[in-house]
Formats: sequence, C-alpha cells, structure tokens
Amino acid sequence: KNTVRILGVDFVNSTLFEFLNTLSGHLEREEKTFVVTANPEIVMKVREDANYRAVVEKANYVTADGIGVVKAAGLLGRPLPERVTGFETFMGLLQIANEKGYSIYLLGAQDEVLQKTVTEIMTQFPNVKIAGAHHGFFDWNDDHIPNEIQRTKPDLIFTALGVPRQELWIGQNMDKFEKGVFMGIGGSFDVLAG
Ligand code: UDP
Repeated sequence: KNTVRILGVDFVNSTLFEFLNTLSGHLEREEKTFVVTANPEIVMKVREDANYRAVVEKANYVTADGIGVVKAAGLLGRPLPERVTGFETFMGLLQIANEKGYSIYLLGAQDEVLQKTVTEIMTQFPNVKIAGAHHGFFDWNDDHIPNEIQRTKPDLIFTALGVPRQELWIGQNMDKFEKGVFMGIGGSFDVLAG
C-alpha cells in the first residue's frame, strides 16, 4: 500500500479517482474496509486523543481531506497528489453503488435530515439499494443497529455522527460484520439534504 507518513499518520498516496478504483476492487471482492477521510479536525483529534488514534490506526486507508496535510507532504518532499475529501469520496462511492446496484446503510444525523438524505439518494442514484437507515441519536448499548446490519449485509456503511463518534462507532462495531466498506462522513448528510 502506497502511503506518505505525515504527523505520524500514513496517508493514501492516490488521487480521488485512483482511490475510488481501489475501493471499487474491495467492494467487488467483498473485502471489509475501513476508510477515514482525515480533515483537520480528525488530524487534530488523532494527535490529542490516544484512544481515537488507536481507532484511526485500525483504518485500512486514511486520506488527506485538508490542504494542510497536502502542503506539509510537499514541503517534506513526499508529495501527495491532491486532497481526497469525505464528501467527494462519499459521492464517488454512491456513483459506484449506482452502477453496480450495491446496497448501503446510513447511520447518523437528525431523523429529518436522514429521511431527506434517503430521498435525495433514491432520486440521484436510483439503482442504489437502501439496506437501512438510522438517525444518529441512539443508545450505544442497544444492539439493534448492528443486528440490522448483520441481517441486511450492506456493501457500504456510512456513519455521519461527527468526530470522533463516527470513527469510534466503526472501530467498536466492524468486527461484527462479514463485509462492508465503512466510512465516517461528518456533515455530508446535512449537505445532501440541503
Ligand atoms: N450527529 C449525530 N449524532 C451525534 C452527534 C452528531 O448523528 O451524537 C450528527 C449531526 O446531526 C450531523 C453530523 O453528525 O449530521 C456531523 O455533526 P457535526 O457537524 O457536529 O460534526 P463534525 O462536522 O464536527 O464532524
């Protein structure tokens, strides 16, 4: 795996296009994959919170979702080709899911935002199958969300729970599932819901 180490984090050394192709391969082969698109808030949190760092270190890919890391990489003589943002990766994955008829599970945001997001995805990506969706204000000790994911076996699981919760949820739960590309996407549901 081609990465560049900046501030103690190994960042994916690919363009968005190349990275989406990589993820497409994992989806095709049903390989469980954890993606972190590390914006400045995430990079900061990794540096100050050892528990969060340990979870991010479990990720298969960490992308540079911030111009700061891309610039630092260039200055250190280990250039990264471009920013790979959470929102663009999310949109790219929805496009792949639409082409291949993959199923998705959406976890997070307020229920109203989530429902609008589901409607928007069904309109823009009509071949995407919605395996399930749950708002982001739930009891972490209640197994009903992981149970639903175990039962419906979605190809992609997006968590929009904010930093650090979205990565912590993936870290705590992904061992329960056989497959899936897992990614925290911050406020992307709010953007899609408009
Ligand atoms: N969110 C959630 N559960 C929580 C806290 C936040 O589902 O317990 C949602 C929130 O509604 C929003 C998203 O997480 O859709 C991102 O929240 P925020 O903007 O606070 O996070 P950040 O942008 O800092 O990652």
